[in-house]
Amino acid sequence: MNNRQLFQQHLAPTSPAPVGLEITSASGNYLYGVDGKAYLDIIGGISVCNIGHCHPAVVKAIQDQSQQYLHIMVYGELVQSPQVKYAQALAAHLPANLDCVYFTNSGSEATDGALKLARRYTGRTDVICCNNSYHGHTIGALSVMGDEYWRNAFRPLLPGVWHYDYNADKLINAINEQTSCVIVETIQAEAGVITPKDNWLQRLRTKCTEMGALLIFDEIQCGFGRTGKLWGFEHYNVIPDIVLLGKALGGGMPLGAFISSNQIMTSLSADPVLGHISTFGGHPVCCAAGMASLQALDDEHIVEQVANKEQLFLALLKHPAIKEVRSAGLLMAVDLDNAEHVQETLHRCLDKGLFSDWFLFAPGCIRIAPPLTITEEEIEKACAILLSCL
Ligand code: PMP
Repeated sequence: MNNRQLFQQHLAPTSPAPVGLEITSASGNYLYGVDGKAYLDIIGGISVCNIGHCHPAVVKAIQDQSQQYLHIMVYGELVQSPQVKYAQALAAHLPANLDCVYFTNSGSEATDGALKLARRYTGRTDVICCNNSYHGHTIGALSVMGDEYWRNAFRPLLPGVWHYDYNADKLINAINEQTSCVIVETIQAEAGVITPKDNWLQRLRTKCTEMGALLIFDEIQCGFGRTGKLWGFEHYNVIPDIVLLGKALGGGMPLGAFISSNQIMTSLSADPVLGHISTFGGHPVCCAAGMASLQALDDEHIVEQVANKEQLFLALLKHPAIKEVRSAGLLMAVDLDNAEHVQETLHRCLDKGLFSDWFLFAPGCIRIAPPLTITEEEIEKACAILLSCL
C-alpha cells in the first residue's frame, strides 16, 4: 500500500476534502511534494508559519534546546529557561497588564484555560461569545464556538453560554452581573475575515469594565503580525484582560498560551491550588522555537511589510468571479460566494503549484494567509495562478 492508502486506512479523517498530497519537505514559502514538485504555500499551515517554513533560526533553536533537555518535569515546578525567556519576551511585546503567561499545548487548551480563569477570578459562570467564532474544538472551546452545526452534535455543552452576532449592539447589551467573560476573536478569521466596525471593540471594552466581566481576545489566528501590526487589537486601541495565543506562537511547534495580569492569573492557582495542569504545556523545545520565531519577526522587520503586501494582493485580485476580497493585512478572504467553485479552483491551483484552502464557516471563500515573508514576485505568481484557475 502506498502512503496515501495508508493515510486513508490508519489516520482518523480530519478533513471533508483531503487533497491527499504528500509533502516531503518545506522551506521558506514553498512545500515540496514526493515527486519534487514545488507548491507556493499561501496559507502557511493556517497562519502558523508567519516567518516561512523551517526558518534557520527556529531550526537551530530546536536543535540547541533538544541537546539541553526535552521534557524534565510537569510545567511549573522547575525553572525552565526557555519558558522564562519566552514569557518575558511576550510580556515585553504586549501591553503592561498582559505580563503573566500560562503556556498550553494548543489554542483550544488556551481557550479552556482562559474560561476557567474567568470563572475563578469573577466567581461567575456565564459567558458571552459570538456567532461564527472559532476558538477550538475541546468541549469548553466548542461551547463558545459560534456554529450550531458543530455544537448540536456534542451537547450537553457548558451551561450559561450566550451567542450573539459579532459587531452587534445586542451582544454588548447582554453583558450583565452574571457574565464572567466575553470571548471574541479580535478579527474573525474562520467566518471569512470579518473586522470590527463602529468602535464595537471599544464599546465592548467599556461595558465589560462597567459590569466587572473579563474581556478575552482570541489572537490565535490574527496575532504575530498577521494583520500588519503585531496584535490585531493594536488597530483598534483596545486592550483585553486576557489574550489567547497559539499557531504562530510556537514558530511551527505546538504551543498555546493564555496571558493576563499577575493579579488575575493568581486566582487560578489559589483554592484549589493548581487550577490548571498541563504535562507538556510550555514544552522547552516549543518555547525555544517560538522565541526564535518572535525574534526573527522583529529582526527581519517582517510585520512592517505586511500592509504593502496586502495592497499588492488587493490590486491584483480582480476577476468577475470574485464578489469581494475582505482583508486584514495578510489574512484575506477571496469571496466567490460559491463553495463548489472554491473547491474546483483549489484543485486547479494545486495542479499549477499553488496551495490554498477555504474557511470553516465561509466555504464560499478562498483563504489567503501566506507566510508573511512572501515576496512581491511570489504574490504576483500566486495571483496569476489563482486568477487563471477561477
Ligand atoms: N482560535 C482560533 C481563532 C483559531 O483559528 C484556532 C485554530 N484554527 C483555535 C482557536 C484553536 O487552536 P488549536 O487548533 O491549536 O486548538
